[in-house]
Amino acid sequence: MERYQLFIDGRFCDADTGETRPTINPGNEEPIALVPVATRNDTKRAIEAARRSFDEGTWAGMSPKDRAAKLMKVFEILKSKESEIAELESKDGGSTIRKTTMMDAPVGIEHFKQLVELGAALPLYEPLPWVDFPFVSWNFVNREPIGVCAGIIPWNFPFMMAVWKTAPALIMGNSIVLKPASDTPLTALELAKAIAEADLPPGVFNIITGSGSVVGPELCTNPMVDKVALTGSTETGKNVMRMAADTVKKVTLELGGKSPTIVLEDADLDLAVDGALFGTFFHAGQVCESGTRCFVPASIYDKFMAQMLERVGHIKIGDPQDFETTMGPVVSKAQLNTVNGYIDLGQTEGARMLCGGKRPAGMNKGFFIEPTIFDNVRNEMRIAQEEIFGPVLSVIRYNDVNEAIQMANDSIYGLGGAVFSRNVPGAIDIAKRIRTGTVWINDYHLLNALAPFGGYKQSGVGRELGPHGLLEYTQVKHIHVDLTADRKKRFWYDYLFND
Ligand code: NAD
Ligand code: MN
Repeated sequence: MERYQLFIDGRFCDADTGETRPTINPGNEEPIALVPVATRNDTKRAIEAARRSFDEGTWAGMSPKDRAAKLMKVFEILKSKESEIAELESKDGGSTIRKTTMMDAPVGIEHFKQLVELGAALPLYEPLPWVDFPFVSWNFVNREPIGVCAGIIPWNFPFMMAVWKTAPALIMGNSIVLKPASDTPLTALELAKAIAEADLPPGVFNIITGSGSVVGPELCTNPMVDKVALTGSTETGKNVMRMAADTVKKVTLELGGKSPTIVLEDADLDLAVDGALFGTFFHAGQVCESGTRCFVPASIYDKFMAQMLERVGHIKIGDPQDFETTMGPVVSKAQLNTVNGYIDLGQTEGARMLCGGKRPAGMNKGFFIEPTIFDNVRNEMRIAQEEIFGPVLSVIRYNDVNEAIQMANDSIYGLGGAVFSRNVPGAIDIAKRIRTGTVWINDYHLLNALAPFGGYKQSGVGRELGPHGLLEYTQVKHIHVDLTADRKKRFWYDYLFND
């Protein structure tokens, strides 16, 4: 079994206790590899390395173009390992090999390149408007790196999340300590290998695997860390924000969601049904922006639901390493218990379970649960308000579109959502009224490395991806250059002197 190591200050090493932990394939519950269990002390060492590398200024002092050249080497190495990454991603997290081969590996690697290229092209000098009262001066803004960034990532898209934290931090000139989720560290560790091979200055990139409750607090409280970027649950986000407050770190948080899919009467029915199912059951529902509340108009309700129940039967649940499988298990026993708890709760709350709700027949190993659809759901029920993070859809009937929008917005979350309609301008008007960071029209889930992604309300703080996301890895420095030729003309010095 492969035994992975931490990467600190340009070297691979074990945890200081030597302790390791097996990571498990959720499809068959078998161990895949051994991963170090880092201590607080290991975390401190990584932070110190990142701090020293940043303060020395080698990486931060390089031109973005030179940094991009180094990072494109990482991209080339990742590209050569694409199929390995796809396979490992599927085994470690239970994502289907179909998805990791078609999406996580190729798209994650492409995102790495796109983020590096976009970051390298961002203007770091921003002229400001001319000021002629009360003084004449030349003012401009320079974008500088923030410093030491901690990247804390979840288990649902382990490789993509590692890329989304690492590429922006590095191209903008920061140093980073990356902490993958305990259940799915392997592809982030492969990213570390690629970075090691590309020979970045030591300490610029570090990776620490270990428990969130040990490594996390060190990353969020150590005064040497300037910024924490977390993708995770809203609960963890609140914790991180509290911990980071003591040293007023910059934070960006990508948190949970309970996103709405609003189907309009004039929607293309085939598209809307498949879109709503894709929005919910893709990756067994373990996606932060999943459209887990589907609003369907009463006028087409029966037809829509009949087609939905037929189409949900076309989802092929099974061994995630089989290319024909389109839905795998959830990531862990704990997650399966949570999902089952919500399925029981939905029934207690009076929703009607139309399909699913149980382990698929004949599958005795692995953390599997069938795609589950509830209707007769009221938006105030807990199954419609709380993030389940599993393959569970709540269908809510509506009569008037204003009522649908109002219910869509009646949520503590605001991450994603979709509108299905043949009238695109009308759908855009509705999208503008949905209080979430991303709205798809006649589609779902397509995140684009060049477009910002993030949450309103308790779905997060700040944005990731796109120019907005890259700028979150910079500080704004204002420089004022006085252009007044001589002392006598500086009338504002008279604020202090009257002679
Ligand atoms: P989680 O919050 O349990 O863990 C996320 C990361 O935080 C892990 O690496 C974990 O080890 C770490 N962590 C745990 N406790 C910590 C602490 N006290 N201090 C610092 N770090 C700590 O989330 P998860 O279960 O891994 O992932 C699922 C959640 O992530 C869902 O809520 C989902 O919506 C959210 N998510 C959001 C996005 C987004 O972009 N908005 C994307 C993916 C997942
Ligand atoms: Mn695993």
